[in-house]
Amino acid sequence: MPSASATPWDGLPDSDLTPAQALVARAHREAYDARHAPLEGEAAFFNAYGRDACPRCGSPDVVRDGHDARGVRRWLCRSCRRSFTPMTGTIFEGCFASIGFEPLRHE
Ligand SMILES: [Zn+2]
Repeated sequence: MPSASATPWDGLPDSDLTPAQALVARAHREAYDARHAPLEGEAAFFNAYGRDACPRCGSPDVVRDGHDARGVRRWLCRSCRRSFTPMTGTIFEGCFASIGFEPLRHE
């Protein structure tokens, strides 16, 4: 399966594209990049919210399961075998881009 950011014109130099193809490819790339911007400091903010129970089934039998591509911690529920993040079940669920939040820094 091709990447979600793929267009039919990937790998071709812009000079080989019609103006319309170049416009669509550029707009698609920019929209993809904007929606998948790294969370940076926000990942640490979300990771500070530890989970002690599965937000889907309520089981306390959860284990840490690495991080996703944005650096947000993943958890695995050993009861229902589903994974979740600190955002699952909150208003931030399904939020793939930065929310524009800068964590407080103490100097
Ligand atoms: Zn569960």
